[in-house]
Amino acid sequence: MVKFICPVCGCRTLASRGENDICQVCYWQDDGEYEDYAPSDANGGLCIMRARKNFLEFGAADEQFVRSTRKPLRSEITDNYIKLLNTNGGN
Ligand SMILES: [Zn+2]
Repeated sequence: MVKFICPVCGCRTLASRGENDICQVCYWQDDGEYEDYAPSDANGGLCIMRARKNFLEFGAADEQFVRSTRKPLRSEITDNYIKLLNTNGGN
């Protein structure tokens, strides 16, 4: 089954959209929020941009979940993910 792309890490990890699936790569809970700067209640008020910064810095959308994440499977890696890693938290 083709999965949906996580709005934070860009990996193809979500079985559905907006159904509170948790991305296993960055631990973002997909509550259906796709505005970069809108706070997400399901993610402790984090917005996607902040969660991305955290993912680049700690390897998880929220630092408290660092131990729960895993590396993406080859099939989950997308151009979005590669681009995100290449931004390296800057620009
Ligand atoms: Zn993710």
